This record gives sequence, structure tokens and C-alpha cells, in this order.
Amino acid sequence: MAKAKKSTKKERNPSQYCSMPEVQGRDLSHIIDRYRLRLIAKLDRMWVNGTQLTYYFFKQPAQWRGGSEQEQAVRDAFSTWKDLGIGLTFREVDAPEEATIRIGFDQSDGSWSYVGRDCIDYANNPAQRTTNYGWDLTTSYGRDTALHEIGHVLGFPHEHQNPKAGIVWDEEKVYESLGGYPNYWSREQTHWNIIRKIPANTVDGSDWDKDSIMHYQFEAGLIVNPPEYQNEPLIPASGLSSVDIQTIQTLYPPLPPSTPTLFEYESQRFSIDPGEQIDFIIKPTLSRKYTLQTFGRMDTVMVLFELRDGIEEFIDGDDDSGFDFNSKIKAHLHRGREYIVRTRLYFSGSQGSGSIMLY
Ligand SMILES: [Zn+2]
Repeated sequence: MAKAKKSTKKERNPSQYCSMPEVQGRDLSHIIDRYRLRLIAKLDRMWVNGTQLTYYFFKQPAQWRGGSEQEQAVRDAFSTWKDLGIGLTFREVDAPEEATIRIGFDQSDGSWSYVGRDCIDYANNPAQRTTNYGWDLTTSYGRDTALHEIGHVLGFPHEHQNPKAGIVWDEEKVYESLGGYPNYWSREQTHWNIIRKIPANTVDGSDWDKDSIMHYQFEAGLIVNPPEYQNEPLIPASGLSSVDIQTIQTLYPPLPPSTPTLFEYESQRFSIDPGEQIDFIIKPTLSRKYTLQTFGRMDTVMVLFELRDGIEEFIDGDDDSGFDFNSKIKAHLHRGREYIVRTRLYFSGSQGSGSIMLY
């Protein structure tokens, strides 16, 4: 969570913070080329654009149940992100097995979420939550909490951990403050969520955005530098910042109005920039096992979905980033059905050009 409006003191004081689960992260140490490393590290937790993220609200165990008002607050927050015109879509489902994002409302567990594709890499058990809301989401602070946790779902880290923010903490004060009411965090949790800087190679050229929805508010005295926060609190403006909006629209732009078709045995050349994506529709002529593969000196993530009745169902994905082989998916496809393969480029050794083939 994060933020609150100016002087709604009753509902935000003292602040409860979002506490992200610790994950190992990918080892990218074998990548020598720093430019390649930066492109991979920046994108490796993002979904391919166009992904339909399914979400589910737990009804049991009872302490995970949120009730209709809390659930509606989360739906509203999904809509706020979606209404920016992004290419991702969100769809509520009524079974945890069908959901990528599984949401609980355990009031004793704080608010937290896995980040982007960590939801499938670290929390793929249907009985497991990927997001929890630990307090009321119908206040202005709560509405910001819902936007913040969904920001994590979309792949955003904490903005106050941006190394470009240049924040210098009074570390002992931060540990002490977070160790007490109402968060009661361990030093490890405080380090993971506040003190630790995100590796510089994973953040874009953007400067510190202290109004980001991904920024916590901080009481006066926890920040040594910039010096104004020694004597006054840092309180981000409520809602999404203009940089949040710009960033999400760059990462997940509106999808093109039409999608070209990929025919069997016909190599399709494409030329895109790092971060960009190319999609192809597939209409198999036979029901059999097919292979999809990219060619060229590229790092890509390639994801295959089946399309039916407005639903995009994940079939398989492959991420070859940082390795000197290409993305490849083998899957049994059915004649008469329709599929879409989405390929996002991390890095290319040959000016973004490569090709994709179905065989
Ligand atoms: Zn957070």
C-alpha cells in the first residue's frame, strides 16, 4: 500500500505498509553485455502485453474472505488501471484453479502482493494467495492500497527503493518505526521493503517519482536526505501519478486493431525495438503437435494462448532471455480452433530483426 490523501488523519495514522514477499530473483550474473542485462532485468517480470489476467477472490478459509464491498474496491482498482487504455485485460473467475491472481483479505496478514510474473513463478499453487489485503479498502488510503497492490501485479516495484530516488535513510529509525505498531515488521522485512535499493540496472532513466502509487508515505525524521523530510512527512499525492500512467502505457500500450496471421512453414520476419512486441494469430490446418520458434540473435519471451469466446487461455510460454538459444514452444494445437502467439523482445543483437515460424 502506500499513500493517502492530505489530512484524512484518522484513516491513515499511523500507517500500515505493504510488505512484499521476498523472492530470490533470477540470476543474471552470466550476462556480460551490460546493455543486454539492463533490458532483460527491466522487463523480466512484466507480462507480455495483451495477457488476460484472471483473478479470484477466496471465499474460504473464512479469514481470507473479504465480502462484497472489499471485493468491489479491488474490481474498481482494476478498472482504474484498465481505463488507461492498456493492452492487458482483467477477468474475474470463480475458481482458484483458473486464476493467475488469487486474492485474500486476511486482516491479520497486512497487504502484499507478488510482482508481475512472480505470481506464476513463485505462487502457482491454486490454494496459495498471490495478493492479500490487510485493511479496509473503502477509505481513500484503502483505495490507494488496492491500486498499489495491482501495480505490483502489473510488474512494478516500490518507488521509494528506486536507486535514482537518492533517498538516504536514518536506518535505525526506520527499523524502529516499522518494528512497532501497527506493522511490527522484522528488520529483514523492513530491509526488503524499504532500505534495500532496487538494482540500478532494472530501473529506467526516470527520476524519482515521489507521487507514484508505488511510493509509501513516511513520517518526518525517517529520511535524512532530501533534508526537507527530516522535519516534514513525505506524503505522496493520492491516486496514480502522471509518471505511473506514462510508464504503464509504455509497457502495455493499446493493442493494434488487427493481428497478422502466422501460416504453417512460412517464416515471418519482423523488426521491433527492445520492449516492443509482435503478435500473430494461428489457425491450425491439422490437429497435431506443432513447434513455434523464433530465429535470429534475440532475447524474447514468447507466450501462446488459445482464443475462444473472448477468453484468452494461457497454453505455454518460453523465455530465452540471457541465453544463446531461441524461444521455442511445442504444443498440441487443434484444427478449427484459434490461437495467438505474443512475442516481446528484450534485446536483439541485430537491430531488432528476426523471424518466427510455426512448423
Ligand atoms: Zn508494495
